Amino acid sequence: MQSYQIVDWGKPLEPRDYPTPEPKGSEILLRVTACGVCHSDLHIHQGYFDLGDGKRLNISDRGMQLPFTLGHEVAGEVVAMGPDATGVAIGDSRVVYPWIGCGQCGDCARGDNLLCTKPRVIGTWVDGGYSTHVIVPDGRYLVDHGDVPVEVACTYACSGITAYSAITRTDITRSDQSLLLVGAGGVGMNGLLMAKAVLGCRVAVADVDPAKREAAMATGLCDAAFDNGDDGAATAVREWSHGGVDASIDFVGRPVTTEFAMACSRGKGATVVVVGLYGDRMGLSTAMLPLRMMALKGSYVGTLDDLHAVMALARDGKLPPIRVTGCPLHGVNGALESLVGGEVTGRVVLQP
Ligand SMILES: [Zn+2]
Ligand SMILES: [Zn+2]
Repeated sequence: MQSYQIVDWGKPLEPRDYPTPEPKGSEILLRVTACGVCHSDLHIHQGYFDLGDGKRLNISDRGMQLPFTLGHEVAGEVVAMGPDATGVAIGDSRVVYPWIGCGQCGDCARGDNLLCTKPRVIGTWVDGGYSTHVIVPDGRYLVDHGDVPVEVACTYACSGITAYSAITRTDITRSDQSLLLVGAGGVGMNGLLMAKAVLGCRVAVADVDPAKREAAMATGLCDAAFDNGDDGAATAVREWSHGGVDASIDFVGRPVTTEFAMACSRGKGATVVVVGLYGDRMGLSTAMLPLRMMALKGSYVGTLDDLHAVMALARDGKLPPIRVTGCPLHGVNGALESLVGGEVTGRVVLQP
């Protein structure tokens, strides 16, 4: 098999050839047919997350060994199965649920694998899908995508469930409520496509890029779009929502975008969900949280149940497909660069 690997933090990925692995026990070997290029791959590639004030969360400190193969939005065809593997057959096309825990602790036993302190996440802890082949530890982590095209279905494993999980944390229960999505990149667009289907409420998008605002409006699912780089944007959002949005999701995660989301919120009882990992730190009037009864939450990816729920929406035709740009495996460095430059609308998907 050939894998494009991080050999040095921040340096271009390099192709490496290895013997194709043989699945053991309950493991399953997939031939990778599609792998989304996610913004969080950039952080891992650089080797750190920015915590602000010059502080960094170094990925190498948590024990990741180089060379390493990124790629956690993986779909593929089952080509070999370990002697104890179940749930699929050779030739099946499946999307991989990558957010796998140790499988032994109490959190994993309860299905709260995202809370596991010993994760085995495919593409962030163990080798992922920037490769011709990938090993999955168990058949239960493979999800049937039905007629949904594989290059769209693979993006649900991260950007899809991240958007879905954030949407289900907004506390929105009524169709007359309003939701603001800040940032209409890959995950934000998935959020927009799901918000109507899942919540059925009024939805607005804010993005500094006119092309992204246009793409959001072109879906027909967006009731209004705002330029959050504009000084009057928060006032305009409050007017649109008759006094402030009930909930917002910050898909960027910069201080300026979270502050914008809070400024657009209704006076009392709003929920702000932060999803983006852009980083840095912000000042916060702590007294305003109780006085405004505001909930400020973080949401990180999603559960296996979330992936099943998203795939069911997509299979039922309730989820319009996200815009996908295909890219050969050897084009991965260019794909990463275009993400750094913010040039991507929708998702770049590698097709090994
Ligand atoms: Zn991701
Ligand atoms: Zn665990």
